Formats: sequence, structure tokens, C-alpha cells
Amino acid sequence: MSEATPPILALQGLDLEDDAFRAERRDLPERAALEEAAREAQRIEGERTDATSRRAALSEEEARCEALAAEVGARAKELETLLYSGQVTVARELEALQEELAGVRSQLEDIEGEQLVAMEGGEAVDGELRGIEGAEQELAGRRAELEKQLEAGEARIDGELARLAGLRDEARGQVEASWLGVYDRLRPLERLRGRVVGILEGDTCSACRTSLPVMEARRAREARAEERVQCPHCERLLLRT
Ligand SMILES: [Zn+2]
Repeated sequence: MSEATPPILALQGLDLEDDAFRAERRDLPERAALEEAAREAQRIEGERTDATSRRAALSEEEARCEALAAEVGARAKELETLLYSGQVTVARELEALQEELAGVRSQLEDIEGEQLVAMEGGEAVDGELRGIEGAEQELAGRRAELEKQLEAGEARIDGELARLAGLRDEARGQVEASWLGVYDRLRPLERLRGRVVGILEGDTCSACRTSLPVMEARRAREARAEERVQCPHCERLLLRT
């Protein structure tokens, strides 16, 4: 800004720059990306919980089949031993034993079939879990990288804000105290969007483009430079050229 810039305009320029940096800090893209990543982590966590409980059920089923197969297998052995022991000689009894053995063997086959299905299902879920682990690792890496970028962005902006703070203090020292009071009161007003200084161009406020009443405009133009004049419409401080 040139030497000729009125101090209050210089201050407003610095304050607007400060506003812009704060908005930039709030809206750093890494912040939104991190929120998205957190949602993704939650989703993956849900998948892991689901897969883990399915894995547990399949392991349980596998164990149940194994125990049952052992039991039925032992019964089959018993029958075989008895059948080939020569102890049973009556044809009808032998026939009944063979029939029972056939039934037990068929039951054993069914159980082993079920066990195989549970095992294969378990392996498939193990594959899913490995995929989930990979996704978790990838996401963790991405989040760490985003955190680093966010911190770097914040540090850069904080540096700018610190620099501006010094300049603003200096600029405030140059502004007429009575102007500063109004400036500070107007600046937070949402409708002014941080632009609280206008220029009286002829009899019009450059900011809101409203014409001042003739007498008021004349009085404003003739007032001393340091005398405070405000737009009767938008309240802004008016500089005269
Ligand atoms: Zn105005």
C-alpha cells in the first residue's frame, strides 16, 4: 500500500487479509479429507466387526463338525471291529450290523461335507479380513499424510496471521481513536462483510451507492479530514477525497 493510503483503509486491508487467512485455515481441504477418512475408518471398522463375527461362527461350526465326526467315526470303527471280529455269526445280526455301519458311514460323510463347507467359508472370510487389514493400513497411511499436510498448512497460515497481527497493531496506532471505536463496532456486523469504510464520491457512498441528503453531503465534504463522517444509510465510515 502506498504512503497515501488513509490509515483506516490500510487497517481494513490488513483485517480483510486476516479474515481471508482465517477462512482459508478453517477450509483447508485436508480438514474435510480427514473427516471423510474418519468416516471411511468407521465403515471399515464395521466391516471388520461383521467379518470377525462371521469368522467366529464358521470356526465354531467347523469345531462342532470335527467333534461330531470324531464321535460318529468312533462308532463306525466299533461297528467295523465287531463286524469283522467273528463274534457275530447269525446272518440276521450281521445284516443288521452292516446296515447300521452303512448308515453311520453315510452320516460321517454328511458331517465331513458340512465341515468342508465351514472350512472353505472360513478361508474366504480370512481372505476378506486380510483385505480389510490392507485397507486399514492404507487408510492409516493416508490419514497420517493428511495430518502432516494439515499441520503444515496451519503452521503456514499461523505464520501469516502472526505477521499480520504485528502490522495491524501498527496500523491501528495510525487511526484516529474515535474512528477506531466505530470501526471496531462495525467490523463484526455480518451485513458489512468486513468492509466498513466507504468513500464519499460526490454525494454518494461508494460502498452502498446511496446518495446522502444534499446538506449532509456538503457538510461531509467540507468537514476536516479527521472529522468522523458516516453514511446515514449503511453506517460505514466515509472517507472524503
Ligand atoms: Zn453507505
